[in-house]
Amino acid sequence: MSLGIKVVKGMKDTLPEEMAAWYYVEGKLKSLALAYGYQEIRMPILEQTELFKRAIGEITDIVEKEMYTFTDKGGESLTLRPEGTAQSVRLVLENSLLRNQSQRLWYQGPMFRRENPQKGRYRQFYQFGLEAYGLPGPDVDVEQILIMARLWKELGLSDKIALQLNSLGTLPERAQYREALIQYFQGCALDEDSQRRLHTNPMRILDSKHPMMQESIQKAPNLLEFLGKDSLAHFETLQSMLKSHGVAFEVNPRIVRGLDYYTHTVYEWVTSHLGSQGTVCAGGRYNELVSLMGGPATPAVGFALGMERLLMLLIDNQLIPAQRFVDVYVVGDGEVAQAKAFLLAETLRSALPTLRVLTNCGGGSFKSQFKRADKSGALFALILGANELENNTVSIKALREEMPQASKNIEETIDFLRQKLSL
Ligand code: ATP
Ligand code: MG
Repeated sequence: MSLGIKVVKGMKDTLPEEMAAWYYVEGKLKSLALAYGYQEIRMPILEQTELFKRAIGEITDIVEKEMYTFTDKGGESLTLRPEGTAQSVRLVLENSLLRNQSQRLWYQGPMFRRENPQKGRYRQFYQFGLEAYGLPGPDVDVEQILIMARLWKELGLSDKIALQLNSLGTLPERAQYREALIQYFQGCALDEDSQRRLHTNPMRILDSKHPMMQESIQKAPNLLEFLGKDSLAHFETLQSMLKSHGVAFEVNPRIVRGLDYYTHTVYEWVTSHLGSQGTVCAGGRYNELVSLMGGPATPAVGFALGMERLLMLLIDNQLIPAQRFVDVYVVGDGEVAQAKAFLLAETLRSALPTLRVLTNCGGGSFKSQFKRADKSGALFALILGANELENNTVSIKALREEMPQASKNIEETIDFLRQKLSL
């Protein structure tokens, strides 16, 4: 670009040729969410900074290092949303959606975190998320896991993504565990982040990706040993329900998730096919967050799926079906025929609303119009020339199959396309 202006570091354009993959996955996600009775919500990209500070917790990667925060001209501190759960809690409270009712909601859209960009890690990335409010589980926890298991199956990914499960218990149980962790890590060599977190938020140390921490993390005390009877019962029912549905999983006591608000069930769907950015989807129960945000005590559970990581996995494994964006290309030989071609295209669009019609714009010789028709990927060229004008017909030329050129009137052309393209 002549001015040297480039896309912001860690952010990406999505080009037309990439859209087939996005439509494919977004379509599947939307149908699945609706099939399980989840309803869409749309939330703004900006929120008051306080929302994320309060909900996510001050001592987290996101709030400490990753937020895009600025002061608005009115003096208010605003932040580009780094995730959707805190926002969805704000939405349900602000709009009184929890009054004597449960809610099953889904959202999708861009999130912003100022991280080190690398494969599968961007500063603007897209998430699809589900949240259920007012249902204590573990049935609804299982429901959300089943939704994803079904997605992997439909996408052909079941053998590439595995479920890792853990329980974080209740806040009092975690408080005891916290003390045990502090004692343990006091005896270990710690990197700078972990040192800082030792007394503020020692569980975060378990989430550390620092190489020097990995061995001591492996040997750290196990949270599952600190769970009480009810928490264990929740976790055991969850596991037996998953088994009865044939969902394979592994209990991984190191999964603590990066955010403060989780209780009981936490899980990650991970793959070994994406290098170190292997978590495709992550979620869990967050029974304390709604009351922490000033609402009535309300159990809640949800997950967020990283769209780019999922798409990368599908593309790398050639699991995106080819998609066609143009069915027919309308060609006109000469000015009169070109004007007529426009009318023909409009007639077709009225008769066959899902037909994808490209009209030749910008004139050009018959030959160059055919070249464009071919390049568009269309299955058929519809031709209007002197003959066709005189006889009020359309010539149909197949571009991707052997078929003699056919001459038809408009009604026959519509029937032909309806049948050929199953419209
Ligand atoms: P990670 O451990 O990889 O940093 P996280 O715990 O910060 O992930 P969550 O906040 O749980 O991630 O977000 C849910 C999902 O969103 C992740 O599992 C991942 O697929 C995706 N995701 C998170 N951060 C990014 C990012 N910077 N770029 C692309 N995808 C991301
Ligand atoms: Mg992160």
